[in-house]
Amino acid sequence: MSGSLTPFSFRESRELSASQLHLLMHPTQEEEDERLRNADDLMCLNIGGKRHWVMRRNFVSFPGTRLGKLARAKSRQEILTLCDKYWPEEKIPEYFFDTSWVGFNSILDVYRKGVLHLMSGLCALVTKKELEYWGIDELLLEPCCALKYYPEIELCVKEIEGEEESRRKQQQRKLEEDFGKSRCGKIRKYFWNLTEYPETSKAAQVSCYVVSEKTLARNFLLILSNKKCKFIFKPERSS
Ligand SMILES: [Zn+2]
Repeated sequence: MSGSLTPFSFRESRELSASQLHLLMHPTQEEEDERLRNADDLMCLNIGGKRHWVMRRNFVSFPGTRLGKLARAKSRQEILTLCDKYWPEEKIPEYFFDTSWVGFNSILDVYRKGVLHLMSGLCALVTKKELEYWGIDELLLEPCCALKYYPEIELCVKEIEGEEESRRKQQQRKLEEDFGKSRCGKIRKYFWNLTEYPETSKAAQVSCYVVSEKTLARNFLLILSNKKCKFIFKPERSS
């Protein structure tokens, strides 16, 4: 028996056994793949406003990905869990994805050629997010691009962590240095800035200069009074 879901008449269906009928209504994965492989229809994928017309049969590979599932989806409800808008009434059914189209050709190449290369001009983290969105395993990356991708991801993660840490510290400092809106608080804030942040005013810069001059002089005196330098002042012994 043919396992494909070709339309059949009621008379024909009466001639089929119950198990054959069940198989027609509930095709196996292999039968579904076979049907898709022979499909000759187009899908219009509208990615963030840019349309791509693709043969449905391209998506027979990688059935676990977003587009692989979409090509197999039967009900409108199922389709709308995979894309943001769906217009079935068009001559070629259109599926809209509210995401960036930059780099989408690299995604399509996964289905057309079975290879994944980095999306040119995209940050590795954006690429990672795109791959997650389309449900494509990053392990499919070709070695030429994997060599660049993984170190770049590591670098990006470190950068982001560093930035988050500095933002957290800044937030903490803001809380600690909040002296309130009272008159006393404002005076405290003024003196705090005077001693801690020379860039905030001219007075703070002068104060910083005086303090640094004083520190320099004190350190110089300390050096002079150090034991190692005592010989400078050591009075000559009288014989
Ligand atoms: Zn490559």
